[in-house]
Amino acid sequence: MTDKSGTSSILIDNIGELTTHDGPPRTNAALLAEDGRVAWVGSASDAPSADERIDAGGAAVIPGFVDSHAHLVFAGDRAAEFAARMAGRPYTGGGIRTTVAATRAATDDDLRANASRLVTEARRQGTTTIEIKSGYGLSVADEARSLRIAAELTEETTFLGAHLVPDGDPDDYVALVTGEMLAAAAPHARWIDVFCDRGAFTGEQSRAILTAGLAAGLLPRIHANQLQHGPGVRIAVELKAASADHCTHLDAADVDALASGDTVATLLPGAEFSTRSPYPDARRLLEAGVTVALATDCNPGSSYTSSMPFCLALAVREMRMTPAEALWSATAGGARALRRDDIGHLRVGARADLAVLDAPSYLHLAYRPGVPLIRTVLHHGVPL
Ligand SMILES: [Zn+2]
Repeated sequence: MTDKSGTSSILIDNIGELTTHDGPPRTNAALLAEDGRVAWVGSASDAPSADERIDAGGAAVIPGFVDSHAHLVFAGDRAAEFAARMAGRPYTGGGIRTTVAATRAATDDDLRANASRLVTEARRQGTTTIEIKSGYGLSVADEARSLRIAAELTEETTFLGAHLVPDGDPDDYVALVTGEMLAAAAPHARWIDVFCDRGAFTGEQSRAILTAGLAAGLLPRIHANQLQHGPGVRIAVELKAASADHCTHLDAADVDALASGDTVATLLPGAEFSTRSPYPDARRLLEAGVTVALATDCNPGSSYTSSMPFCLALAVREMRMTPAEALWSATAGGARALRRDDIGHLRVGARADLAVLDAPSYLHLAYRPGVPLIRTVLHHGVPL
């Protein structure tokens, strides 16, 4: 989401339950946003005056969701593949090729319009920061243009030229990704990512790609251990990646490595839901002390949802996270996975990114799944 700052002050008053992630939720609270930042938090009875006032009417207010994993620059959809999968065909990841062909054939304007539509859809559901990956171009020109378009919509852009090996020799493709493609992508990207899994990139190739990205000034993150157990999570910790994403198939050494490093485990339950696969073991990670984030993995193949509330509900129902843990992971956890400390919470000084719910408590996000509970969203202190 592009940078824009509120130039005036706005008071959110009469908040029934305010979650700031600075201690337990406050009741009967108010929050003042000034120049795009949280300027004051306190009791509604002590609320200062402001240029504008929003009466929350006793509803809950939460930090805006931080969706740290999304693939939004693509053309076409794969609804037929989804229907076939629900009829019994397994997910392999090979359907990515279908989206690559459609994306290469699309105009810049088509890609921009589709990505922008998805960002708007996410915002309406309370997402105020969204990471956007390339990865459906897989050529120098198509990856660079995907990232240029992503950079129009967010500051959290990720080069994922290593999404899949297109036809041809894998070693030649790795050389392209770490050479000419990286050089073309780097000016538009903050992060580098690789799909380290069965049918995608090996551990050795993944390490080479992330290392090349680091040398070009990009910070690493990784798709790891989604389809089967592999070396991805351990490579992430070794390279001090901000996040290892998916983490579905982990052994004890992976969990220990995550617990001892500062790589966040980002869980993407929309992918397991949409591919009818076993969910990651969130409790095992939490009990080991691993920092857990939740994100949508929004993409046209394996998780075509932009809804953080839906993923939060899945995390509670299917992965046995408590509603409080799931809310933290979908906000502050996502911020950690993007190495950000200005978002994902509402302490004084934070970016004034928040959602006013149509509910008295954040518990309703999991308790009332599928119901649109986001009433108002503030982004940089500006109501959307
Ligand atoms: Zn992904």
